[in-house]
Amino acid sequence: MPRARILLSAMLLSLLGLSDATLAWTPELQERIAADAARLAPPDLARQLARHARELAAGAREPFTDAAPGDHYADPDGSGNLAEALRLEVDAAIEALRSRRTFAEIARRLGRVSHFAADLALPLHTSADDRAESRYYDDYLAYAEWARPRFAVVAYEHRPPLVGSGDVDRLVAEGLARGRAAYPGIGAEYRRIDFRSGIGRFDDRSTAFGVASLAYSGAVTDTARLQRYIWLAAGGADPRQAFSRARDRILVLDQGGAP
Ligand SMILES: [Zn+2]
Repeated sequence: MPRARILLSAMLLSLLGLSDATLAWTPELQERIAADAARLAPPDLARQLARHARELAAGAREPFTDAAPGDHYADPDGSGNLAEALRLEVDAAIEALRSRRTFAEIARRLGRVSHFAADLALPLHTSADDRAESRYYDDYLAYAEWARPRFAVVAYEHRPPLVGSGDVDRLVAEGLARGRAAYPGIGAEYRRIDFRSGIGRFDDRSTAFGVASLAYSGAVTDTARLQRYIWLAAGGADPRQAFSRARDRILVLDQGGAP
């Protein structure tokens, strides 16, 4: 894109009160979520995603520039098209696999799926009930990126396998319900610190940390469930026990706690 156009679109976004960061987790964390989830993909797919890590990362960033603002959220009043955006990406990925597109393209498409699954797991994208949200939205995402090395990253194996498209709808409904339950806790934390930055203020036992950490692992888990669903829907196999049935356990990807 020519520099003048980049500047112009940045100006338009700021006039609208938007910036890149208003559309998702930070770009860095979008890439991390896609990469963490790719380790949980069915083995044959995981190998391809490791080989095409660059395309996967690019796909996770693409919706920042090519999706409509409303595609990134779904509020209780019905505004936002996140559910539809996620379903479209899932179906497009299945179609790409069925029609034997290159794995470079498949990886890019799975990165896009990861982006929207991650948005779904982010409580701030499931509600706009707090009128003061714009005072802490950007800071909370920056805080999440800052705190990420200390998250324990896990996959929640009790979330059931996705078999049909009705199960994808259920994943969306459950994600929205979880996000809306957690949403008020974030605003309460910012009121406690007078809307200053949470970076260096919220400690690792705070609700702010807990919500961000659970949302991150939730994003990784749901992306992994969707990858498996997409792979099987297109005729792929998955010999693993994990994700083939709901189990009362979690799979630890990263112990967290790095300083
Ligand atoms: Zn987004």
